[in-house]
Amino acid sequence: MIKTLQRVWVPVITLVWFGFSEYAYCYLFCKRKLYDDLHHESTAIGLIVGTNIAMILICINWITLLIKGPGKLPLKVPPYNLNRYYKNGELFQKGVLDANDPAIDDSLTNFVDPPDFFQCNWQGLPYWCSHCESIKVLRSHHFSRLNICCPYMDHYCAYLGSLIGYDNYPYFVGVVICYEMWFLIVLVSLCCFASRIEDFSKRRILHPADIVTIIISGFWLVTVTVLFGSVLNMVAINELSIERLNMKRCNALKSKLGAMEQKPSFKTRFLLRKNQLSKTELQRYIDSYQRYMNVKHPQFSNVRVVIPLRDSDHPFNKGLFENLKQWCFRFPKFATPQDVVRYECDMISMSFKKKIQERIKDGEGHVFGSLSVTPVDYQSV
Ligand SMILES: [Zn+2]
Repeated sequence: MIKTLQRVWVPVITLVWFGFSEYAYCYLFCKRKLYDDLHHESTAIGLIVGTNIAMILICINWITLLIKGPGKLPLKVPPYNLNRYYKNGELFQKGVLDANDPAIDDSLTNFVDPPDFFQCNWQGLPYWCSHCESIKVLRSHHFSRLNICCPYMDHYCAYLGSLIGYDNYPYFVGVVICYEMWFLIVLVSLCCFASRIEDFSKRRILHPADIVTIIISGFWLVTVTVLFGSVLNMVAINELSIERLNMKRCNALKSKLGAMEQKPSFKTRFLLRKNQLSKTELQRYIDSYQRYMNVKHPQFSNVRVVIPLRDSDHPFNKGLFENLKQWCFRFPKFATPQDVVRYECDMISMSFKKKIQERIKDGEGHVFGSLSVTPVDYQSV
């Protein structure tokens, strides 16, 4: 019920604002004050045209965004055949792995070969969607309302009433830019002429409609500018909102756990009791938010390493131009799951791959198969 209302009230309020703006800004300010009273005809026409173009572009981008939708996985990707790596990981850990004759188990015919690098959970396993029966490739997450796995899932935008993903992200950016332009034009023009239009029925004050427009435009200009800055930053490092949010959650939980392990202060004890999360539960949440990558060992064949990622790691960042290309152009045609898997690996930048391989050579991460898949720590507590 609340969600249905939320889906309706935002477009309604937006339409009311569009109507109010046409009356207060275009008619009262541009036509009556600038055009008729101050005789700035060309400025008035320019501002009316500018704001209306921005409004039309917002509508076009918004409608396209809703029609296109966030997109869904182009193909179902079956589980990766990780058996051989798991077995070799066990042998490697025991020190009995024969590097010239690694154990190979290719009996799982319906599985696909894993890419050299893929995102995984703490156990080194890829994320699996049981609803879509596919590995969550292409940075996808499952969105239950639409029952789809959405590639490049960014966030659910309550204001636009749509999930933002790979297919409609450019239109989302379009809406943000047009709003930015619109509020900027309205606010700057009103502030510039404010002192010359203070004749509200000769009371020498601004018309209430102008005051309301200035307040609303000012508030939204700040909000949209922050959002736009965040979008630019995320495109620059090729990061999604949901990825950033999970990283923040992970860090918050880590500091909470750190506070728990030290002698907790009265305030920390109070907060922990309030949240009622045990140490085990905290650790489980941290593991679910922490980013890991399963990587082919750079030195040993058929051995893989599970390595945790640092906050400063941006695996998909290939530089601003390449990142923009990835956002603006469409996926290639995928004929088989193996095509998707290959593309999945190519999405990760070469510089990041080299950095990770260096870390593995330095002994970071744990060999896939060397840890028990059962989370023993959780059961023992
Ligand atoms: Zn799914």
